[in-house]
Amino acid sequence: QRQAGEQEGHGAGASAGPADASAVMSARGVVKRFGDVRVLNGISMDVRAREVVVMVGPSGSGKTTFLRCLNHLERIDEGEILIHGRPVGYRPRQPGSGRPVEERAKVVAERRRNIGFVFQRFNLFPHLTALDNVAVAPTKVLGTPKAEAREQAQALLARVGLEHKASSRPSALSGGQQQRVAIARALAMKPELMLFDEPTSALDPEMVGEVIAVMKELVDDGMTMIVVTHEMGFARSAADRLIMFDGGEVLEDGPPEQLMTDPAHERTRAFLRRIN
Ligand code: ADP
Repeated sequence: QRQAGEQEGHGAGASAGPADASAVMSARGVVKRFGDVRVLNGISMDVRAREVVVMVGPSGSGKTTFLRCLNHLERIDEGEILIHGRPVGYRPRQPGSGRPVEERAKVVAERRRNIGFVFQRFNLFPHLTALDNVAVAPTKVLGTPKAEAREQAQALLARVGLEHKASSRPSALSGGQQQRVAIARALAMKPELMLFDEPTSALDPEMVGEVIAVMKELVDDGMTMIVVTHEMGFARSAADRLIMFDGGEVLEDGPPEQLMTDPAHERTRAFLRRIN
């Protein structure tokens, strides 16, 4: 577990001022609308290298949407997000004067490459073996030679405890095993930031532990992580900060222990009591 002293401070003050280009991720005033609904209502936060941040909050409070914005799966309407100092949500300034569409796609692919995304439902390619699921992106996106990509994939499967399942297809794996392959697949791109969106909530209870154990190993290896989860055991033992989302806003941001025992907001207390 990391030391509390590594953190720079908490709460709204930590994310005041302009976006911080030295952070792994820095968000300022992020607004996202779907039609007339403001799903993100001015999100500001920083995540620094090797920090582990757990996000909680009621269903519909915008956690998934925020993760999707970080990974270019949704475009933001207002505000700013920097990943390693580079803006997310690139838009041409004026029609005609922006970069061509192909170039924009290239920019997005390039920037997304540094971010690993693990979904609630593992989203593995059903027709590929576990090994090929892990090896496919490095070959196709990074141009890693096939033999080398497969060797790396084998090592990553070992890292998540599945070296013996390399030739299995997803349908032959349990949910927990599929999620561990999905984590190995994300790691294959050598991400500098890992996003997890409720990685254990689609799993049978007896499989939650094996996925959490793999995530904890990543924490010990120093991976920078943003994790949406209601696994408060993980938050307590592995997270540097716990962030409470509510109504598309950051209601509270601080050390997990503080939010769990002495939150600044009654809504945080009530929510954490409900999920525990
Ligand atoms: P959470 O992850 O906290 O449960 P979400 O980010 O999934 O919250 O959803 C926030 C709100 O945005 C919800 O009201 C949801 O219905 C809405 N929403 C999410 N995606 C879309 C979409 N593609 N189109 C319209 N509304 C959406």
